[in-house]
Amino acid sequence: MLNSEEAPLIAILDWMMPKMDGVEVCRYIRKQNKAPYIYMILLTASGGDDNIIEGFKAGADDYITKPFGAHELEMRLGVGRRIVELEEQLRRQALYDQLTTLPNRSQFVRYLDRLVLRSQVHNKYKFAVLFLDIDRFKIINDSLGHIVGDQIIIEVAKRLQSCVRSTDMAARFGGDEFVILLDDISDINYATCIADRIQEKLSMPFNLNGQDVSTTVSIGIAQSVTGYSSSKDILRDADSAMYLAKSRGRARYEIFDSSIYTRDLGA
Ligand code: GH3
Ligand code: MG
Repeated sequence: MLNSEEAPLIAILDWMMPKMDGVEVCRYIRKQNKAPYIYMILLTASGGDDNIIEGFKAGADDYITKPFGAHELEMRLGVGRRIVELEEQLRRQALYDQLTTLPNRSQFVRYLDRLVLRSQVHNKYKFAVLFLDIDRFKIINDSLGHIVGDQIIIEVAKRLQSCVRSTDMAARFGGDEFVILLDDISDINYATCIADRIQEKLSMPFNLNGQDVSTTVSIGIAQSVTGYSSSKDILRDADSAMYLAKSRGRARYEIFDSSIYTRDLGA
């Protein structure tokens, strides 16, 4: 059995092998789908069209006809490595934010979906989502320029990551918005301590091109104990609590409770 984390990235398979031939191995690996990025090269004694088609249908990416020289093998491996690298790059782009290298929205939502399911099955398991938005970030952009604005976003990302455990996840949602998932917490006090720690860390000035800049964030907290069946709902509530924090003066946190919609946000 192959595990996707430790799966080889390139495989060279002889067509003729004892027990299971190269084509069968290709088919098996593709069917298992545990090594989706593997690049497979088949070695064949005859480069007949039927053989080649059978190999490609089984999931091979390339083939080499025997006999072949070291140079040809090296060249094909070079192409294979390049393709694997490009796929890896695409995969990273799909899951990580380019500017900060934090997980992006789609990776965060995927992880959150898993935790929502876990909390439905295990009633003692609790987690919290913190929704953060930098305060008055437009002013920073307008006064110091977009490039300095980008550097602040990168610095905020680093500081957020330093405030959470390795089992938690800090992600950039887009623009000046970040989200944090606090996994397996005992109670809400843990989430509020992290929110305080974040404000404290962000209040320490960043030195950017000789200028000291500091910032604050508004934070909305939603907890799994409210009873969620979808990641969309918990994110909506954390976002609403964040807006309440904005409306109550910024640089603070608010914890979601259902009265927010009727009382505080005037819905
Ligand atoms: P508020 O306290 O209400 O959040 O005020 P704000 O000025 O932060 O307003 P808002 O959050 O709505 O605006 C975020 C701004 O962030 C808008 C946009 O110009 C800027 N922005 C979005 N993405 C980027 C980015 O990647 N880099 C930089 N430098 N700015 C960005
Ligand atoms: Mg903002």
